[in-house]
Amino acid sequence: MPAGRVYLETFGCQMNELDSELVTGQLRSLGYSFTPDPATADVVLYNTCSVREHAEQKVWSRLGELALRKQTEPGLVVGVLGCMAEREGDALFKRMPVVDVMCGPGELDRLPSLLDNALRTRSALVAEAASYQYADAPGTSAREFALQGSTSRRSSTLAAAADNLELLDLSRAISPTDHSGTAYVRITRGCNKFCTYCVVPFTRGAEVHRPPDHIVDECKRLADAGVIEVTLLGQTVNHYRFEHGAAVLIDGLVQPQKGRVYTHKDGVHEDPYRSSGAGGERVTTFADLLARIHDEVPAIKRLRFVTSYPRSFGDDILTVMREKPRICRYLHVPAQSGSDRLLKLMNRGYTVAEYLEFLDRARAFLHQPEIGRPLTVAGDFIVGFPTETDEDFEASKALVRRARYKNCFIFKYSPRPGTVAIDKFPDDVPENIKRRRNNELLALQNDISAEVGQEFVGHTVEVFVEGISRREQKVARRQAPAPAPASAGIALTVGGKSLSVDRAVDACGDDHGCGGTHIESDTPELDDRLAVPEERRIQMSGRTEGDVIVFFDCPAPQKPAELIGRVQNVRIDGNGGLSLKGTLLASKRHESSFIDR
Ligand code: SAM
Ligand code: SF4
Repeated sequence: MPAGRVYLETFGCQMNELDSELVTGQLRSLGYSFTPDPATADVVLYNTCSVREHAEQKVWSRLGELALRKQTEPGLVVGVLGCMAEREGDALFKRMPVVDVMCGPGELDRLPSLLDNALRTRSALVAEAASYQYADAPGTSAREFALQGSTSRRSSTLAAAADNLELLDLSRAISPTDHSGTAYVRITRGCNKFCTYCVVPFTRGAEVHRPPDHIVDECKRLADAGVIEVTLLGQTVNHYRFEHGAAVLIDGLVQPQKGRVYTHKDGVHEDPYRSSGAGGERVTTFADLLARIHDEVPAIKRLRFVTSYPRSFGDDILTVMREKPRICRYLHVPAQSGSDRLLKLMNRGYTVAEYLEFLDRARAFLHQPEIGRPLTVAGDFIVGFPTETDEDFEASKALVRRARYKNCFIFKYSPRPGTVAIDKFPDDVPENIKRRRNNELLALQNDISAEVGQEFVGHTVEVFVEGISRREQKVARRQAPAPAPASAGIALTVGGKSLSVDRAVDACGDDHGCGGTHIESDTPELDDRLAVPEERRIQMSGRTEGDVIVFFDCPAPQKPAELIGRVQNVRIDGNGGLSLKGTLLASKRHESSFIDR
């Protein structure tokens, strides 16, 4: 059976982006090719997010369009991957019979066999229909039951499921030409926190920490391929903890850990069981892991991590961050609310005072603007959580003012099936009030972002150059001989080199009000139809170590291709609120870039 042409679209968080990358590598190695244009694909896959209803609505509408297309292309295979598949289960097949394959985030190692079955079944059905010579012949509307529900598997045989998933991470295909100098590395799967509004513990399962040797090895392989910036991923990344003593070897793999037991009392912020610590038990904590990656993979110029949980963030981690120069001074540490009453209803496990204690402690360790290394902090807030009063909302505003985030992701509460909140608390804040609070908090944060940005003006900062700015991409699209598909990645030919510039950093279209400060990543497929004349000054974009977006022009005669994927010095001349504008100083030509390889 020949492998098909796949279109893969990703919705949601960095975890999903990484899952899509792993799936892409896995399918490529089996002979599948990828296309940025869904119209030319034999297999259309959506890797979905369930955290808010909005993301799921997009997928429902895409599936509706595919249902029409499948009437004339019965051989088309449609798959829904990720949290939405996991959450909806069989109900998704029932509502959308166009779907052939569903695969939860804990089952992605099984996707190739699911797809293979689906392709075989669909082509047999098409052949059967052709022999009837009628479009509505029996069998053409039959659907594939290629999904295995994962929840039971995960809970009953956690070790086996996690080992298979670990193989997916371990087999990550890392090509020197197929990245933009930056990469995600998962360190912990799942989540044990059970915040009352959140589907993640249900869709991604229990917290499982990956073995540190595997993580360090993955970072080394990425560095060998030219990656110079690594972002470690975990839902509560600072709670990483690997107990070596508890490990059981299964086919060379290490049994996953049961979960974090890192607790500390007020005033003591150290894990007593660090690898060098007491007790005889060898534990790799998050601080140990950061130090290992920093020291053992010096080719990684920037090491960062998301998302931090405000509770149990030890001084040991802050010390490592201060001592190791290539660890970015950046924290994404969601607060969710400034009201203790709501934090309790959300089951967050900390108070506003404890949250602020952590921010103050982190700044005392790491905020050093005088040496050009300020600590920047990003936050998450939910507005309109059940029973949120004006007073609660004012408390969130007060926290935003006090915390001085460089940006905030602000979400309107979205009741999610299966969560505690949807069952226990009526969604009683009207939509217009949620929207007003969202806009108000966003406006306040924008003012603060502008103030924080102003602190950079006149200073020279190191910027990791991510690519050509979205503005340039728009120009290129206008000049293109044929329009690139709206949802697809875009690549430019600059100076004779084909560059993927599919990481858009300045125009998020979502409604959560991030101001475009997060990355939207599309397909990595290269498309060299678009060309930018070499002589024009190209606007580039990149990020400071604190994740602040910086725009600057590529000075003639330098070529954009020489800058992308490198860390460069940029003098900051202006402040646009959520982004900075600067001038590139003499570029660091000595640093290697993936472009050279
Ligand atoms: N694990 C991270 C933490 O709690 O620190 C956050 C991960 S969650 C996938 C990303 C963000 O989505 C959360 O910080 C929260 O603000 C938001 N979120 C999660 N569930 C939500 C819901 N039901 N409605 C609105 N926002 C939600
Ligand atoms: Fe969801 Fe809370 Fe876990 Fe974050 S910590 S993923 S919000 S349950």
